Amino acid sequence: MNIFPPLEIPHTLAAGPGPGNTDPRVIQAFANAGVADHMQADVVRGMIECKHMLREAWGTKNVYTFGVAGTGWDGLDSIQSLILPGDKVVVFNNGTFSGIDGLTIRMKASSQEDLAANPSDPQPDNVIMVNVPHGTSVSAEMAEEAMAEHKPMFAFMAHYETGSGRVNDIQGFNDACAKHGVMGMVDAVSSLGIGHFNIDDYPAIIAWASCPQKGILGLPLSYAPVSFRPEAIDLVKKRGCYTYVHNPLLIARHWGITDGVDTETSGYHRTHSSFSVASFHEALRIYLTAGRKETAKAYEYHEAALKQAVTAMGCRPTSNMPSLVVMDLPASHAGREKEIVGNCRAQGFGIWPTLSEPTQIRIGILNQINQEAVTEIVDRFADAMLELGVEFSKEVVMAGLKDYYGSERAVA
Ligand SMILES: *Cc1c(COP(=O)(O)O)cnc(C)c1O
Repeated sequence: MNIFPPLEIPHTLAAGPGPGNTDPRVIQAFANAGVADHMQADVVRGMIECKHMLREAWGTKNVYTFGVAGTGWDGLDSIQSLILPGDKVVVFNNGTFSGIDGLTIRMKASSQEDLAANPSDPQPDNVIMVNVPHGTSVSAEMAEEAMAEHKPMFAFMAHYETGSGRVNDIQGFNDACAKHGVMGMVDAVSSLGIGHFNIDDYPAIIAWASCPQKGILGLPLSYAPVSFRPEAIDLVKKRGCYTYVHNPLLIARHWGITDGVDTETSGYHRTHSSFSVASFHEALRIYLTAGRKETAKAYEYHEAALKQAVTAMGCRPTSNMPSLVVMDLPASHAGREKEIVGNCRAQGFGIWPTLSEPTQIRIGILNQINQEAVTEIVDRFADAMLELGVEFSKEVVMAGLKDYYGSERAVA
C-alpha cells in the first residue's frame, strides 16, 4: 500500500489567462466556515444571498441567475443543455475555448448516428461552425452574415475568447440574433468580473455562463455563474433537457427559485459544500465592493501598462482583452515561445502558451491590478526574455513602465 507524504503545493504567481490568484479573504472564508450540511439555514441563506449578488454582478433582473457547482465548463454545459439533437446552431469559433464550446454543442445537437460515426468529435450537419482566424474578433458583420444565411434556432459566441485574447462584438451578435429570430447564447467565462456590461442590455441572448476562477476569483472550486432569460426557461419547461445535474430548473430550486419566483426555502438538488458557499459569497462581496465599473477600468489601465512594457521588449501583442496580453516573440526568437513559458513556470511564474495553433505567449493580470503587481510581472518576464537571449535594455523597459504610472493617465 502506498501512502504518500502530505501534499504540499507552492504558492505561484498566477499570471496566465486564469485562474487568478485568489484573494486571501476568499481563502479565509473557505477555512473559517463550519461543517454544516447543505440544508442548514445559514448555508441556504448564503446561497440565496449569492444569487442576489450574482444578479448584480451580471447586471440582470433574470430570476434564473445562480451558480452551477464546478468549473466554467459546468456552467456552459448547463446552458448548452438547452440544445437538443437536430437543433440548428451557428457557432462562432475564434480560439481554443469557443472551439471547445463548438465541440460540446456538436455533441448535444448530434443524432445517434452522428455520435456513432465520430463519438469524440461528431460533425452533425445541423451545427455550422463559423471559423474565424486566430487573432481576429467576431464582428457584427460576421454575425449578421452567418445568421442571415443559416437562420439557425440558436447561435453561440464567446464574449472574450481567452485562447487568442480577443473581445468579440456582443452588441453585433445580439442585434443579429434579434433581427433573425435566433436565440443567442454566450460564453462569458472570461468577461464576467472583468468587463463592465449588463446582460439585460442584450435581450436576444437568452443564456449566459461564466466561471469561478477568472473575473470572480473564487478559486476554491465553487460555482460557475449562469443566467437564463424567461424564454430559455420556457424552452426547458416545454422540451426538457438530457441532464439531471445541469438541468437549470432543478439546480434553481436549491438556490430558492421555483416556478419563476424567488422562495425563502430551498429544495435539495445536490450536496453543496458550506466551504464553497462561504468562499463564493466572499468573492462576490469583494467584487461588488470594488465596483463593477471601477474594476473594469482598472483592468484596462493595467493591461495597457503590461502591453506597453512587453512591446518595449520587442514582443508583438495581438490581443485586445483587458485581463490578458497574447503576443508573439520578436522575430529573432520566434518558435521559442514554449521554451520561455516553461522557464518561467519552473520558477513559479505561471504564464501560459496558447493551447491551440499558432503558439503564442499569454500573460494575464487577474487580481494583479495595481502598479506593484504589474511591475513584478514585467520584471520577471524581462529577466526570462534576457535569459533567452533577446536583446533589449531592461532599464529602459522598467523606466517606461514607471513613466506610464507616473503620467496623467495614472491619475485619471
Ligand atoms: C477558462 C475558459 C473556459 C473553461 O473554464 P474552466 O473553469 O476551465 O472550466 C471556457 N471558456 C472560456 C472563454 C474560458 O476562458
